[in-house]
Amino acid sequence: MIRSNTSTKLGELLTSVYQEGKTLGLFFDFDGTLAPIVPLSSQAQMSERMNAQLNQLVQLDNIKMGVLSGRSLEDLKSRVDIPKTVFAGSGGMEIDFGKDQLYDPKGGNFWLSVERIVPLLERIIEDFPGTRLEKKPYSFSLHFRGLSPSMATGFQAYAIEILRSCSGIRYREVCQSIEVQLHKSWDKGIALDHICRYFDNDMFLAYFGDDLNDTEALEYVNKKKGAAIGIGDHAPIIAKYYLESPRQLHKFLDDLYSDLKSLTRKVSLKSNCRSRSRGTKSSVFHCIASDDGDDPEPKIHQLIQQKNILCVGFLDSSGFFDPALISSDMIDKIPDFYSRVDHVNNLIEVEDMLYESASHFSLVLVDLRLKGLEAVNILNYINTHFPNLPCIACVESINFQNAMIWKRNNKIPLLPLPLRWEALVSALHHWFYDHESNPTKKSLELHRSRSASVSPS
Ligand SMILES: [Mg+2]
Repeated sequence: MIRSNTSTKLGELLTSVYQEGKTLGLFFDFDGTLAPIVPLSSQAQMSERMNAQLNQLVQLDNIKMGVLSGRSLEDLKSRVDIPKTVFAGSGGMEIDFGKDQLYDPKGGNFWLSVERIVPLLERIIEDFPGTRLEKKPYSFSLHFRGLSPSMATGFQAYAIEILRSCSGIRYREVCQSIEVQLHKSWDKGIALDHICRYFDNDMFLAYFGDDLNDTEALEYVNKKKGAAIGIGDHAPIIAKYYLESPRQLHKFLDDLYSDLKSLTRKVSLKSNCRSRSRGTKSSVFHCIASDDGDDPEPKIHQLIQQKNILCVGFLDSSGFFDPALISSDMIDKIPDFYSRVDHVNNLIEVEDMLYESASHFSLVLVDLRLKGLEAVNILNYINTHFPNLPCIACVESINFQNAMIWKRNNKIPLLPLPLRWEALVSALHHWFYDHESNPTKKSLELHRSRSASVSPS
């Protein structure tokens, strides 16, 4: 299929989104996108110009950047030297946010599942000089870039016959290698979802990818109404935008940087009032817009006070509401809130608080890291005695697996939220916006959030 270059249209879209003050998430595949395909995958590298260009872009305000690859996380990070960047390796199964890391909990089963077939594949590798088996923490790749077309066909036929005999795995050809993973393991789309939840679920996504293993990421971006961009002739057809090659991507990013740079000053003025196009419908956004700085900490306190959110357990477990982090001005403004948070950390206190004034609260946030089963008991109590009071259980991304275990063992409805200021503020905005702008939706959404599985897939 002949595709027409859509760089102009794409540039206009990204610039206009940025101009609105929205965070722009620029996410890239590595091989075939940021770095040209080379005969030996171990020799692939980004050009110095590309590296410098990405470094410039990531320094702009309101830009979030990430690189997602089938390579192991360690290998990927050794090839990309860009600060403030999130990395996802092993096709999305290992994510490094910088401060936190997240891994597909199913990954640990991978090598046990392929134990029988690996020696068989290694025997074929010996028969085809120029091929190799690259082991990663949760997957492996069979590389055959070094073979002639006819030899490659023979190698693939033998390898696929063996792979077919192994249940519970999936495999696909990408850049003249066969990538092998567990069936239903995390892919780049799921990794992007985790990244959005971690940083800002409302950011505008642009994903650049060149091959089949970018399909899920491109699908996810389409679902989020972002920009799905294919690079080169092998890019999945679901990409709505198209650039001919990494070289053209380079030129595109050059132009984009110039455009965004000229807008930076205007955007920084707008970013303090993140009302966005729909914000005027909701008082929550006015509350945030009244804040003078970019520090999200006062924003969460304002939001909690204005919306009467009961917070359970955040004070001593995470420093989330550490008195040392709250300015004296803030304490003067919200004495009720301060004392309320200070003293609600267990079921008895929650019972007292809700018995006296349940109708006062619009939402309860429960910190899952409370000791023992305190959080579970609190959630059970609220579900039983105050079934109409919305309740959200928060958990750090790094503790995601714990939340899943708790959910399975205790049948407690959980909505996992990463305990970062930006992410929590963003998630709460969404929650209030949805429920205030469409009150009839409340019961349905509430029911759904209460019964939703925390499974990331
Ligand atoms: Mg690629």
